[in-house]
Amino acid sequence: GLELRNIVKNFGAVEVIRDVSLHVNDGEFVAFVGPSGCGKSTLLRLIAGLDKPTDGSIAIDGKDVTAISAADRGLAMVFQSYALYPHMSVRENLAFGLENTKVAKAEIEARITDAARMLEIEPFLQRRPGQLSGGQRQRVAIGRAIVRRPDAFLLDEPLSNLDAELRVSMRAELAALHARLKATMIYVTHDQVEAMTLADRIVVLRGGRIEQVGTPLELYNKPANRFVAGFIGAPH
Ligand code: ATP
Ligand code: MG
Repeated sequence: GLELRNIVKNFGAVEVIRDVSLHVNDGEFVAFVGPSGCGKSTLLRLIAGLDKPTDGSIAIDGKDVTAISAADRGLAMVFQSYALYPHMSVRENLAFGLENTKVAKAEIEARITDAARMLEIEPFLQRRPGQLSGGQRQRVAIGRAIVRRPDAFLLDEPLSNLDAELRVSMRAELAALHARLKATMIYVTHDQVEAMTLADRIVVLRGGRIEQVGTPLELYNKPANRFVAGFIGAPH
C-alpha cells in the first residue's frame, strides 16, 4: 500500500499542501478531484518521488519513497504536460526505458501493440510527438505508462484533451485495464463522471487540504459540506 503521513509542501512562503494523510490499498482506484490550483499535481509529484515534501512522509509498502530508487518504485506517471521525448518516434517513446531491462524484446513489442490498439494510436507509431494532435499525444503518454506494467499508475488528467466520444471509450479502456492489471491507480480529474464511475474512492481537495474521502456513493449521499456536494454534483 501507499501511505501519506501529514504531508506538507511549501513553495517559498506558500503552503500548497497542508497536512494531507491518506492510505491507498494495493490495486485501489483513487480519484483526486478539486479546483485548479488546489494541489493535485503537486501531490502526484510528491507520491512519484519527483519532489520532496516539506514535512511528513510517503511510504510504499512501508518503505520511504526517497529510500527506494526510481526504477524500483514501480510507479508510472502520466504528466499533465505529457512530457514526451520530442526527438523520438511514438514507438520509441513507448519503448524508452524498457529496452535495457530484463523485459524481452518480443514482450516489449507485444505490450506496444496491445497499448497502441487500446489507445487507438497504431497509425501514429512512426510519427514524432510534434506531428500529433494534443489528444493523440495524451494517449501516447498513457501508453508509455501502460507498457511499463507498473504496480501503480499516477495519472494527471489523462483524458482531459479528448473529445467526448473518445473520452467515454478511453474511460472504459482504463477501467478494463485496471481490472486486468490490478494495478493501483491514482487518478486526477476535473470530470465528476470519470471520478464517480472509475474510482473506488474519491479524495476531494481544496486549498491543499482534504475536504473529504469516501466512495462515490458516500460522497454523493453524505457530502461533508456544500463544497463537496457541489463538486460531486450531489443535491445540496
Ligand atoms: P490544475 O487543476 O490547474 O492542474 P492542481 O490542483 O494540479 O491544478 P498544482 O499544480 O498542484 O495544482 O499547484 C498547486 C499550487 O502550487 C498552485 O497555486 C501553483 O501555482 C503552486 N505551484 C505548483 N508548482 C509550483 C512551483 N514549482 N513553484 C511555486 N509554486 C508552485
Ligand atoms: Mg494539475
